[in-house]
Amino acid sequence: MLIESFILRLIRTSFPNLSKIHTLVYSLTFYNMKQILSIIAMNLMLLSVSFSQPRNVYDIYALEYLKGSSRTPASVIAPGADPKDSVDFSYFIWYLNGDNGRKVLVDAGMLEDRTKSSNYLNYVRPDLMLKRINVNVNDITDIIFTHPHSDHINGLELFPTGTIWMQKKDFAYFVGDAWQKGANHLGLDKQDVKCIIQANLDGRLQLVDGDSIEIIPGIRVFIGSRHTFESQHLLVDSNAGKVLLASDDSWFYYNSDHFLSIPLTSDKEAYAKELRRMKILVGDPRLIIPGHDALVLERFKKVAEGVVRIQ
Ligand SMILES: [Zn+2]
Repeated sequence: MLIESFILRLIRTSFPNLSKIHTLVYSLTFYNMKQILSIIAMNLMLLSVSFSQPRNVYDIYALEYLKGSSRTPASVIAPGADPKDSVDFSYFIWYLNGDNGRKVLVDAGMLEDRTKSSNYLNYVRPDLMLKRINVNVNDITDIIFTHPHSDHINGLELFPTGTIWMQKKDFAYFVGDAWQKGANHLGLDKQDVKCIIQANLDGRLQLVDGDSIEIIPGIRVFIGSRHTFESQHLLVDSNAGKVLLASDDSWFYYNSDHFLSIPLTSDKEAYAKELRRMKILVGDPRLIIPGHDALVLERFKKVAEGVVRIQ
């Protein structure tokens, strides 16, 4: 009986919340010690399993670092749209906080000198946006670039740590063919090229080659929209289920709701086809998160000024 009461006391002090075990052990006064010890061992095992296994799910945040200055006709961002419809432009970075310890930045936004134009309003430096949700730039473990347009990649120098992920063909075009005579480098910037080459020389760049590849546990990338040479979007496991971070592979909800391509792609048919695939990948169209739609801030819960949590 002395050993039994010692074990009971030990359980009460070690596991004050495990009331089930507590009650169970009380009712087992007449069980032999072997059975009681095996129950304790089993519960300890279950506890250690539940503590050591991450589910690879992420809390997802959209952070608006810049706004467009005027309302835009929907036909500009989605040729074929109803002439009465219009949209508001926003500029985002996204942050994924994993239960596996990964702290992932999706795109890096722009530095201030690129935003000095009448088209833009309310610039906040992307690293300062992250500070609003208590994320320090040195905590970032990974940076995924959806594509190398300046409003997505120019802020790279604000983020000195973390593995950088980018599609191999997008990188090759960005640093090579884009600058050959007659080639298209609309939206690409020479300074950003130098910056990503330096990141590669520093051993930070990890190139991804292809479609439907899980690059980090719980994060899978897809291609096909051809917004840039090989732009990519992400399917992320979250507590709210699967969330699709479309970035510029769907500029606005208007594009994904109507399966209407943006004008800025080398293959409009492929772009529209990708919008349909996104709908299959994510049942709830609200969770196809567009790259430039101010509606994102209205559709999700605000957690800080300019920041919403996607859930
Ligand atoms: Zn873009």
